[in-house]
Amino acid sequence: DQEVADYMKSLAIRVSGFDVPRPIKNFEDCGFPVPLMNAIAKQAYEKPTTIQCQALPIVLSGRDIIGIAKTGSGKTAAFVLPMIVHIMDQPELEKEEGPIGVICAPTRELAHQIYLEAKKFAKPYNLRVAAVYGGVSKFDQFKELKAGCEVVIATPGRLIDLLKMKALKMFRATYLVLDEADRMFDLGFEPQIRSIVGQIRPDRQTLLFSATMPYKVERLAREILTDPIRVTVGQVG
Ligand code: ADP
Ligand code: MG
Repeated sequence: DQEVADYMKSLAIRVSGFDVPRPIKNFEDCGFPVPLMNAIAKQAYEKPTTIQCQALPIVLSGRDIIGIAKTGSGKTAAFVLPMIVHIMDQPELEKEEGPIGVICAPTRELAHQIYLEAKKFAKPYNLRVAAVYGGVSKFDQFKELKAGCEVVIATPGRLIDLLKMKALKMFRATYLVLDEADRMFDLGFEPQIRSIVGQIRPDRQTLLFSATMPYKVERLAREILTDPIRVTVGQVG
């Protein structure tokens, strides 16, 4: 019946791209360091969600990814956990300044949610996470960024403002996440996103997550991702 049909649709997994790493079944399969495993246990995340099973090994291998899955599927941890590993892998962490991880989200609410998730996993490593978005004092955010951070989570407009004010440098940024790309486009952020991407070194790792893939998002993905693997969970559209 319809309910069963809808359920089967929600389970559908499609993966495309070259040399796709095998999906994992448990967080233990990720080879995460102990402090990160402890932080995951603290969240009571027993098993990775479907998108996490597919995306974690891909992102941990350093590949670019297009992740398409509906709201509530656990996309945040799919990009935040490998980001912590990526940051801790940087050989000269202390020498440079500016964020290593840059996460763009469409709204302040979403940016704040990602901030809360990122803080939990960044805590054991004392990584500095800054969230910058509209509706809050630009001056305070300027000061916070000037003091230094390893991760910045931002709405595109505010990040552009702060870049113009030279509140942060992008030399160190090698891990870029565009979360809810379709919503960012709906809100008219395409020019801001293109400007931000243009200020981040091309040898970065780029992750794009979206609930849907309209033509404009598809076109951006083709331009800014390198040899990406596409993971779709559930039937989209
Ligand atoms: P999305 O970004 O796909 O909409 P979220 O990352 O916001 O989804 O996750 C939705 C909810 O699921 C959050 O409350 C999050 O804490 C929780 N969650 C994420 N991963 C897991 C997991 N592996 N096990 C249990 N809950 C999880
Ligand atoms: Mg999300």
